[in-house]
Amino acid sequence: GVEPGSVRQDGPRLTVVSGPSGVGKSSVLNELRERAPEIYFSVSVTTRRPRAGEVDGAHYHFVGVSEFERMVAAGELLEHARYAGNCYGTPRGPVEDALAAGRDAVLEIELQGARQVRRSMPEARLVMLLPPSWEELVQRLTGRGTEDPEVVEARLRTAREELAAEPEFDDTVVNADVRSATSELIRLVTGRRV
Ligand code: 5GP
Repeated sequence: GVEPGSVRQDGPRLTVVSGPSGVGKSSVLNELRERAPEIYFSVSVTTRRPRAGEVDGAHYHFVGVSEFERMVAAGELLEHARYAGNCYGTPRGPVEDALAAGRDAVLEIELQGARQVRRSMPEARLVMLLPPSWEELVQRLTGRGTEDPEVVEARLRTAREELAAEPEFDDTVVNADVRSATSELIRLVTGRRV
């Protein structure tokens, strides 16, 4: 017999994953990559400088401002936004190719970008990753108290704004535990039970 939920009901899905800084997006998405390598992960372009350990073409495509502007003007980006003084965008071609080849695709982007995808691709699923509680997020963003209080205050303000957009999202996943949050996200991204 066929288990309910184990059969694809429809074609490949495009899922946008957003969530405030400090919610543990990278841990969940790294585990998702390991457990579901068949999912296509978009590699964004950004004008920010690579951080230590980041590989061009893997974590991001690192580009200059003029190349970024060229891509915007040429319509090569599915969405784009400014965040913390830098530009970020999703190359359109690879996402369309993945979906055309029948692969589910995931974009990990911030709120303004998620809103653009909502408008341009209404069939996309928007998922917000949430902290177990506001107090827990404050703890994670405050760190060890070594950071500039103004920087921490700015992060908390941005996080509060992002969390306020929750009603615009189709689904939420609470990251209390990376393993179960990842399982839930795989279900949403692929429509499969895991
Ligand atoms: P970071 O510089 O820390 O890698 O990323 C900063 C923020 O930019 C994160 O919230 C991340 O989700 C977002 N981001 C990364 N790539 C893109 C993109 O292509 N488009 C948009 N709109 N946001 C992105």
